[in-house]
Amino acid sequence: MIKRTKIGVLAFQGDVTEHVLATEHALKQLHLTGQVTPVRTKAAILKLDALIIPGGESTVLYALCERAGMVDEMKKIPYIFGTCAGAILLSHRLKHTAPGQKTLGLMNITVDRNAYGAQTESFEKNILTPFGQMRSVFIRAPRIVKIGPGVTKLIQDGEEILACEQNKNGTYYLAASFHPELTTTKIHEYFLKKVFSK
Ligand code: GLN
Repeated sequence: MIKRTKIGVLAFQGDVTEHVLATEHALKQLHLTGQVTPVRTKAAILKLDALIIPGGESTVLYALCERAGMVDEMKKIPYIFGTCAGAILLSHRLKHTAPGQKTLGLMNITVDRNAYGAQTESFEKNILTPFGQMRSVFIRAPRIVKIGPGVTKLIQDGEEILACEQNKNGTYYLAASFHPELTTTKIHEYFLKKVFSK
């Protein structure tokens, strides 16, 4: 039997449906076959080839992952794409943490939480990316303030790094501070190309 590549979308909070639809659309665009499923249990996490962590509230997201007993299993998934709070969860170093806040610590990046201000200061803008013009939506977004050795910029807007990637020891992680799932499937396509290139 052919094993289908399984891509999970962490389904506790945030744009779960949007990420599922963007990933399914991206698979179609690339003529690839894979299974995209919302996941919220350790058993489901164990079956995955790749995981997408949507936005939401990073403290709550992490706490729910801990409550589900899935943190160690998440760290073993070789391909992870995190957007907004998902990028916070991937980061190794975090500024403006909530008391006791923890992350998965998988990417050698420093992220400043809520760096653009409160929820009401959320905004949208057009950016130029390696994938063409893109509308980017920032919802109480974090800022990727520093990338360490082993991490490469993927999308930059002026001085700001809006997306970056880390490819190391058979793992691949992609972090974006904004919400590509709302406006484009290009970054999902880019992520899937990595997943299917293994
Ligand atoms: N401000 C949120 C946090 O700290 C992230 C916001 C988002 O994911 N849209 O988790």
